[in-house]
Amino acid sequence: MAVLEGKTALVTGASRGIGAAIAVRLAAEGANVAITYERSRDRAEEVVAEIEGLGRKAIAIQADSADADAVTGAVDRTAETLGGLDILVNNAGIFPKAPIGELALADLDRALAVNVRAPFVAAMAATKYLPEGGRVITIGSTLADRLVPSGFSVYSATKSALSGFTKGIARDLGPRGITAVLIHPGPTDTDMNPADGPRARTTLATSAVGRHAAPADIAATVAHVAGPAGTFITGSAITVDGGVNA
Ligand code: NDP
Repeated sequence: MAVLEGKTALVTGASRGIGAAIAVRLAAEGANVAITYERSRDRAEEVVAEIEGLGRKAIAIQADSADADAVTGAVDRTAETLGGLDILVNNAGIFPKAPIGELALADLDRALAVNVRAPFVAAMAATKYLPEGGRVITIGSTLADRLVPSGFSVYSATKSALSGFTKGIARDLGPRGITAVLIHPGPTDTDMNPADGPRARTTLATSAVGRHAAPADIAATVAHVAGPAGTFITGSAITVDGGVNA
């Protein structure tokens, strides 16, 4: 039997990139999966079709992570439509870049709303549904721990905040048998950070393996944590970066 058979997952920001790979991988492991997206309806529907092709149920929900009501609504709709919620994956994120002197307040507020407030809001809504054995898995970044280029103070700060979030909810939810884990990807080949993009060489300067991760590499770690092998991993961060921060 597939290890996630009978489980339901919600993956935020899963119309493309790492989120899409996570959604498909969780479905391949047996889960029914809801995904959210902001703008890419067609791409979200393609992910749904891929999951249905694996014999699992899937829904795509338009929900801007900056909108707390939309995030709460996505959690509720997942549980109502797919019959519960076992695994929440906070993946949606944005990557603002501006040196501190050029930072616009609106960009700071949006990054905090999407990258930090939304995982809180989703977890707050999900605690109603998560059963014993439930998971809250959040996607951080190696830039939370080590920041070489300039211009990423906001992004790094938002991803660092997820460390306190994860440790705190691990304590809150541990007595219910629910785990919380933060996964820090390194450079991963997506629209956000294309392997053939202008930043690629600088990005890989400290990589031990000298290449970007594929989204599936990150999804593999999420699947590990989501499954029975993840039962005793909680309150901690796992770095999946090809040695960038080594
Ligand atoms: P992409 O930009 O390639 O994809 C982002 C996904 O998130 C899309 O599905 C997008 O939806 C969705 N999204 C963006 N903003 C919102 C929003 N406000 N509300 C709902 N959904 C939203 O990003 P990646 O796949 O590269 O990144 C995924 C996560 O991994 C992020 O948290 C990112 O910070 C993190 N990460 C990425 C790294 C990388 O090198 N790629 C490295 C380290 C961490 P839509 O298509 O509708 O716009």
